[in-house]
Amino acid sequence: MLDEPTTMYLKNLFETKLNKAMRLYLDTCSRCGLCVDACHVYASMPETKYTPVGRAEVVRKLFKRYFRLQGKFAPWLGETMTMDDIGMDKAFEAAFSCTGCRRCVGFCPFGIDTQQIMGIAKLLLIGVEKQPQILAMLSDMSIAKGETYTESNDSYLEAIRNLEPQVEALAPKPEGRPTIPVSVPGSDILYVSLSGAHSIIPAAAIMNAAKENWCLSYFEAVNFAAWLGDPKKQSKISDRIVAEAERLGVKEVVVVECGTATRVMKFQSGKHSFKVLSIVELVARYLKEGRISVDPAKFQGRLTYHDPCQLARNGGVIEEPRYIIGKLTKNFVELTPNREDNWCCGGGGGFIALGEHEFRMKSSKVKADQVRAAKADVICTACENCHTQLSELNEYYGLGMRVESLTNMVAHALC
Ligand code: SF4
Ligand code: SF4
Repeated sequence: MLDEPTTMYLKNLFETKLNKAMRLYLDTCSRCGLCVDACHVYASMPETKYTPVGRAEVVRKLFKRYFRLQGKFAPWLGETMTMDDIGMDKAFEAAFSCTGCRRCVGFCPFGIDTQQIMGIAKLLLIGVEKQPQILAMLSDMSIAKGETYTESNDSYLEAIRNLEPQVEALAPKPEGRPTIPVSVPGSDILYVSLSGAHSIIPAAAIMNAAKENWCLSYFEAVNFAAWLGDPKKQSKISDRIVAEAERLGVKEVVVVECGTATRVMKFQSGKHSFKVLSIVELVARYLKEGRISVDPAKFQGRLTYHDPCQLARNGGVIEEPRYIIGKLTKNFVELTPNREDNWCCGGGGGFIALGEHEFRMKSSKVKADQVRAAKADVICTACENCHTQLSELNEYYGLGMRVESLTNMVAHALC
């Protein structure tokens, strides 16, 4: 049992999330069940606890117990739950079996947003220190990097210089400019990558081929606190990039292939003087403006595309990848369903960082079935998490495909 001060503390935390929309979500559900089949977890593992409405019920029962008269005067009616250990365990199971893909929102007649509701469960878990420790640790490491940042980080700059030959093998070195400029004042674009070379080399080659005035950020785009559900830490992580972009005076911040990082920077990083776009949007723009071109003969085989949930359904980047693919090949087949309705791959919500291999594979059987039905040779996507998850699904279910990153495909087809 939780003591009274802890319960009061959690109740106050809960209240910070109770805006008008959230009260509507928690009061409105008619239990029609229309959201049930929208969830890839339930479609793959049909248990009530994995339905969107089943997950939301955990938070709804806490809401009724602490914020509605029924909970105060008739908690025995069975529709309420206390914030004791069992309540927190159920909150954990509900929140960390949901990737936050928001596919269910489009199926609910009231637009009830399960991802937002799970945000309450995650905040309460942080309140009792039952949050996933790996996500908390990775968030803290990102914040510490922002606090100890120095402009003369020699070992980082040397590691970046070592990547230059691989960039130059894809596109010529720009006249009078470094191959990979790092954090340069007066750049037009600040490119924010992930920590691996694979997220820097293709984008650098494309921007050099376009003769862009760009530079690489000191920081990685990934925001572990968004998956953790800690709004304060999430802001601290994105603030590092905002401060760097404003110090350099860039016009645009371009985010690597990462759906969550793009969504956080675009829609949740506050007001700033620059525009935010995904690398996919930038590449489509270069192709449209004739600043780069690709050789369609480079790619062989039948290609399909996986829309990352945070980039497509939740970020609106839907036609740009198809425009790019149209320049790479005529042998393209859509997944069914696709665009906003695409099935989540099951790798979002921080699940890749959490490991959870067995759950990720089993909860994404419906995704594997969808991909297999496309009968493609290659599946490409534009999100690091989706790429990892699709690669593991490919192996686990023996799909026999190659998994590619869209940016990487473009970089290798530059002409
Ligand atoms: S957000 Fe996605 S994973 Fe979560 S309940 Fe809705 S459909 Fe399922
Ligand atoms: S579709 Fe909406 S109203 Fe119907 S059960 Fe699901 S969350 Fe509730």
